[in-house]
Amino acid sequence: MSAAMSMTMPTPELLFDEPMSLHTSWRVGGSADQFFRPTSVEALRDYLRDLPEDTSLHWVGLGSNLLVRDGGIRGAVICTLKLPAATERLDASRVAVGAGVPCTVFARQCVRWQLGPAAFFAGIPGTIGGALVMNAGAFGGETWERVETVETVDRSGARHTRSPDDYEIGYRSVVGPAQEWFLGATFAFDDDPAADMADIKAMLKKRGYSQPIGKLSCGSVFRNPPGQFAAELIEAAGLKGTERGDAVVSDKHANFILNRGSATAADIESLIEEVRDRVVEHSGTALQLEVRIIGETQGRSGE
Ligand SMILES: Cc1cc2nc3c(=O)[nH]c(=O)nc-3n(C[C@H](O)[C@H](O)[C@H](O)COP(=O)(O)OP(=O)(O)OC[C@H]3O[C@@H](n4cnc5c(N)ncnc54)[C@H](O)[C@@H]3O)c2cc1C
Repeated sequence: MSAAMSMTMPTPELLFDEPMSLHTSWRVGGSADQFFRPTSVEALRDYLRDLPEDTSLHWVGLGSNLLVRDGGIRGAVICTLKLPAATERLDASRVAVGAGVPCTVFARQCVRWQLGPAAFFAGIPGTIGGALVMNAGAFGGETWERVETVETVDRSGARHTRSPDDYEIGYRSVVGPAQEWFLGATFAFDDDPAADMADIKAMLKKRGYSQPIGKLSCGSVFRNPPGQFAAELIEAAGLKGTERGDAVVSDKHANFILNRGSATAADIESLIEEVRDRVVEHSGTALQLEVRIIGETQGRSGE
């Protein structure tokens, strides 16, 4: 690399004891021992190569589907948000995008390119990497419906190009090669010359009527059981408004748990458990988590 290039390249950040509450949409969670925010894929690969094998590794995008416990994370967290935010049109219908790109940014760019079927990404407040892990969906669209290829990196820093056939893809569920993480994807969307930003605005406005948007949450806590809606089961069990500390089941959408400001991860997790138990008692349905829970409970870690 030339001296001129290295002067303009942003420096990757390696932080120690970084509070995960700064990186999750619930704004809770203790500190990660190491928090690495690479600014290039090469820096990421170097970091992975140097990481001792026994250091546990977690990834985070926008933290919009993640509950980090109050004792934090013993090990390393890689945050994708500063990876090069490339969104490149490959041809009339195909687009390549990096894992750290926010889905909302991606949706808007695709609509500008008149690739209207990508508009649903505007409803997902996470990154492309997070959407690939979750098979995130909104407004009738789902992430993996349009994936052509994904690029991954493994623990040794090696890169792989994979196709959807390498994954078992279901509703909010994606199972693929172990110990590989997403660097990006290519998508194919049909051309839709009628697509415009007003469609996105209208979709988001409609959603604002039924969901507590703008409050501290992780979206839907539970997956919808087949043929049922988790929110309806929670509401039917009389749980709207149920509280634990400063965590509360939303009055507007019962599958959202809100942090009113000073909730801890323990408050939220204990409320999740109460909701699950009371829904089983009331309807016999065992709800499955959509939200991912990681980290140590306080006390166990000694923090
Ligand atoms: C208000 C609100 C509304 C929401 N609405 C929707 C909705 O309509 N539909 C929907 O599907 N979801 C919704 N969500 C949930 C969330 O936005 C999605 O699950 C999103 O895909 C998570 O992306 P993220 O970048 O925030 O992932 P994170 O929360 O940071 O991580 C989620 C999981 O993905 C892993 N991960 C992240 N990046 C990578 C990577 N590059 N490679 C490998 N693993 C990675 C993490 O380790 C973690 O296990 C909503 C959330 C909120 C707060």
